Amino acid sequence: MNSNYHTKTVTELSAMLQAGEVSSVELTRYFLDRIKSSDDKLNSFITICEQQALAQAAESDEKLKAGNAPALTGVPIAHKDIFCTDGVKTSCASKMLDNFISPYDATVVKNMRAAGVVMLGKTNMDEFAMGSSNETSYYGAVKNPWNLAAVPGGSSGGSAAAVGARLAPAATGTDTGGSIRQPAAFCGITGLKPTYGRVSRFGMIAFASSLDQAGPMGQSASDCALLLNAMAGFDEKDSTSIEKAVPDYSADLNKPLHGLRIGLPKEYFNIKDGGMDAAVEAAINTALDQYKAMGAELIDIELPNSALSVPVYYVVAPAECSANLSRFDGVRYGYRCDNPKDLNDLYTRSRGEAFGMEVQRRIMVGTYALSSGYYDAYYLKAQKCRHLISDDFKKAFEKVDVIMAPTTPATAFNIGEKTDDPIAMYLSDIFTIAVNLAGIPAMSIPVGFAKSSTGETMPVGLQIMGNYFAEAKLLNVAHQYQQQTDWHKQMPEEFKA
Ligand code: GLN
Repeated sequence: MNSNYHTKTVTELSAMLQAGEVSSVELTRYFLDRIKSSDDKLNSFITICEQQALAQAAESDEKLKAGNAPALTGVPIAHKDIFCTDGVKTSCASKMLDNFISPYDATVVKNMRAAGVVMLGKTNMDEFAMGSSNETSYYGAVKNPWNLAAVPGGSSGGSAAAVGARLAPAATGTDTGGSIRQPAAFCGITGLKPTYGRVSRFGMIAFASSLDQAGPMGQSASDCALLLNAMAGFDEKDSTSIEKAVPDYSADLNKPLHGLRIGLPKEYFNIKDGGMDAAVEAAINTALDQYKAMGAELIDIELPNSALSVPVYYVVAPAECSANLSRFDGVRYGYRCDNPKDLNDLYTRSRGEAFGMEVQRRIMVGTYALSSGYYDAYYLKAQKCRHLISDDFKKAFEKVDVIMAPTTPATAFNIGEKTDDPIAMYLSDIFTIAVNLAGIPAMSIPVGFAKSSTGETMPVGLQIMGNYFAEAKLLNVAHQYQQQTDWHKQMPEEFKA
């Protein structure tokens, strides 16, 4: 038996399944065994779906035998535990939903199943996707496979760690302010946040509805293209989903990059006092040289309102979360406190006992920002600033095809390092948040390594941002780089075998 399936990409596994070189049952069992033997080091899964996965795999094998099965048939992947999954616990990493079994599938889950994907399990995350380190999970922190003392990033930290350690060939994530790209960068994998509205949010537990977007997390751009083909599309159940045909994201991967105009925003480089790490910047510059060698042109640009993105986000996201999370009240579903005195006690104690500290902090900030005396000063003002940020990108994309920048100012920090300082934690998303406020697509790809503050060699991510619906272009730009380099093939020592 070939025992190296974890060294293969989704693209390769799909070809092997189609050629009958491996069965989905064999592959699924292989990854389930890997999760069972190694995940106690990482804590990247909340739920493992062994029986269901093997049944889906057996079904996939029948389809493969019958012929004409879609490309992802039989490929095992993991879903972030923010997606509702029929009959399977869907916790959003909160005590609030610890006992919640969803009665239906999120559209992303449904679409991917229809495309033949097998679900290995549900991955750990920050509670309700609020966090940058996966430390706010009710089920405990997730570890970074490159250094078990470091965080994997958040909020899709379980998905990133599982793919980084190759416990799953790929996973889904969601990105409200960086939660696909930042953990992808910290764990050395490839992640894509699509244009707002490209992928349905139906059945994806809402954090900040005007920012949330689901996307693929995998080993390569070509894997992300295959996964996005299955995920994307109009959904009448999501009123913000956009009625626009889904292109074949795998079709344009091989276009040459000659003449590609890459914008380098000055606000994302040469930052003197923003915690920008010199070794990270050096790795980014080497990647940019590679692009130049491939025929791209590097153009200096400005995104003058970049400094507004973190403050604007931390008004808009908490405001929307305070509204979205009001449904968790101990009555309709979710956690209920013991022996409530009266209705008010039931509401306050259920919410107080089941929401973690970060979630409570956001609900309070959001409720304050939306209250009648402060609405104009905070929420309205933030929405106006949001326009300025979108306009910066619109102007930039008149001059350039894509924008490149570091995904994060530094490599993964250590567990516990920022838990007492929420502002320092919020600033770790400084380069990813503007993209969500504007609603444009962006990727993170691994482009090398840099020493962390504790001397560990950790992955560095390059961020590639595109204009609305430019996912195919981003994937092409990332894929061409991955044809010339092998950073995306590197695996952490501890999980190589
Ligand atoms: N880290 C950011 C936050 O805590 C982004 C989270 C996300 O994208 N879900 O809000």
